[in-house]
Parts: sequence; C-alpha cells; structure tokens
Amino acid sequence: MNIILLGAPGAGKGTQASRISDAYALPHISTGDIFRENIKNETEIGLLAKSYIDKGQLVPDEVTCKIVENRIVKPDCEKGYMLDGFPRTIAQAEALDKVAKIDLVINMDVDFALIMDRLCGRRVCKDCGESYHVTTLNGATTCSRCGGELYQRKDDNPETVESRLAVYSQQTAPLIEYYKAKGLLFNVLSNGTPEETFEMIAKKLDSFSK
Ligand code: AMP
Repeated sequence: MNIILLGAPGAGKGTQASRISDAYALPHISTGDIFRENIKNETEIGLLAKSYIDKGQLVPDEVTCKIVENRIVKPDCEKGYMLDGFPRTIAQAEALDKVAKIDLVINMDVDFALIMDRLCGRRVCKDCGESYHVTTLNGATTCSRCGGELYQRKDDNPETVESRLAVYSQQTAPLIEYYKAKGLLFNVLSNGTPEETFEMIAKKLDSFSK
C-alpha cells in the first residue's frame, strides 16, 4: 500500500507517520527529514535546501522529485511506503503519478489557529525525530522514546511559520482537490490528541487492507 500524508505544517503528519510506520510496517519517507539530514551532513543538496527551508519556502520541484524517485525504488519500499510532506505542489504530484501508483491520500485537516502554538512549542528528537510540545515536556530535554537530545527546529519560529502557511495555502492546498478528483482522498480532523487522530486513521487503514 502506497500512502501520502497531506496537511498543513503543524497538522501532525510526522507524529502520525511514525505511528503508522510502526503499526503497518511501512517505510516513512519524509522529504523534510531527508533535507535536514543533508543539511547536517553539509552535502550539496543540503546547502541548496537550507537556503529555502530557512525562509519557509519550498525547495525546487526538480530537486525534491529526484530525491523521492530515487528513494521509492529502494528494496524496503517493495511492499509499500508512506510519503510525508511530499508532494507539496501539483507539479510534484504529476511527477509522482508517472513513477508510482498511490492507493490512499490521508489529508490531515487542522484548525489554522492551533498551528502557530503547535509549531513554536514543538521540540524534536535529534536522533529518532519524535515530536513533543513544551507544555507536556515538563522541562525534560531528552526523548522519552530513545533518550536523544531534543531541539527546536530553526524554521519553527513565528515569522517562518507564517511563510510556510502562506506557501501551504497557495501551493499545497490545491492537492486536496487533485486527489479528491482521483477518488483517493480520506479526510481526518486532526485538532485533537495524536491518539484520537491515529485511531481514525487506523480504522481507515484496517478497512482498506481487508
Ligand atoms: P517538513 O519537515 O515537512 O515541515 O519540511 C520542512 C521544509 O523542507 C519545508 O518547509 C520545505 O522548505 C522543505 N520541504 C519538505 N518537503 C518538501 C517538498 N515536498 N517540496 C519542497 N520543499 C519541501
């Protein structure tokens, strides 16, 4: 089963992706994570991506599509995969259609008023990528899952979040109609807790794989 997780920044895609990946044994492919890894390793792609990511803009389609095309042909993707944060433009979706058959698109629908607080209070594990919120960490600075150090993403600040949201509305939100027209869209309201959201997604995935 090949799945796409769609949604605005802060909708909880990463959090749900790691749960889905564990429960359904699907490799989790996050273009954002791939870019961050490249930035950390100071590769050519990382250097290029950083200039866009720091401003809350999208990395050019050609670069992003190539990365995904190379990733989904790896042996671990043979039985399916889950794309998180890709596609983010119609051009990316069209490029993906040429190389993949998508079975389901989960659109995580979140109230925009919740996003700023979710993202600016987000802390991420440097090692496993798990996300937390400062209000539930009670001062903890390490990951309860793997013990890794928590950090705040450089693009999780009010100014960059504003641009990311504008980019989402202009370039990514049209994908909702794109996939609806193909009959692939499943909408999930993700204003609640990660557990509540996961329950709705799991119900859909269970009925889907039967
Ligand atoms: P994320 O971790 O999904 O929030 O992505 C962080 C940043 O990486 C985004 O704000 C973009 O700058 C870049 N990025 C991630 N995925 C894509 C994509 N599919 N297309 C273009 N840029 C992307």
